[in-house]
Amino acid sequence: MLKGLGALLKGMATTFRLFFSKSITVQYPEQRRAMPRRFRGRHRLRRHENGLERCIGCSLCAAACPADAIIVEAAENDPANPVSPGERYASRYEIDLYRCIFCGECEAACPVDAIVLTPTLTPSDYSRQSFVVSKADLLEDHPGDAKRPLTDEELARRSLSIR
Ligand code: SF4
Ligand code: SF4
Repeated sequence: MLKGLGALLKGMATTFRLFFSKSITVQYPEQRRAMPRRFRGRHRLRRHENGLERCIGCSLCAAACPADAIIVEAAENDPANPVSPGERYASRYEIDLYRCIFCGECEAACPVDAIVLTPTLTPSDYSRQSFVVSKADLLEDHPGDAKRPLTDEELARRSLSIR
């Protein structure tokens, strides 16, 4: 009985202490918390330092994806004006974020570190089609730190209402 009363008082003390402490509620999406670098959120397709696309259209990411969320179509590179360093590049690259479970298997399977999951929160929206992100939505403008969160410009390419 006394043990139970002690636990009750301890619980009530915690309630009172938190009741008068400052709220830590984040007003998402107006305010966005910085997520840990290892957080698996929105994807990015990366470039090499010389600006060429890393993706060589091998489809290993699509094969590894347990949710069947990735579509890759490859095309031959023009040697005079290559898109990627390989023989081929991804002429189409799409991820259906509605299907994606953010497991990171695509990142682990990629032999050239082209696809990465960034510490950027996942979006919300009302239309299913909004969640299909294309290569243009995913491809970074300039090479950089793979694990940096998506910039506002990168997010703006896909006009999901809440990011
Ligand atoms: S994070 Fe997982 S589920 Fe999402 S696209 Fe990559 S492999 Fe598929
Ligand atoms: S992202 Fe990587 S694994 Fe996927 S098609 Fe491109 S090179 Fe291959």
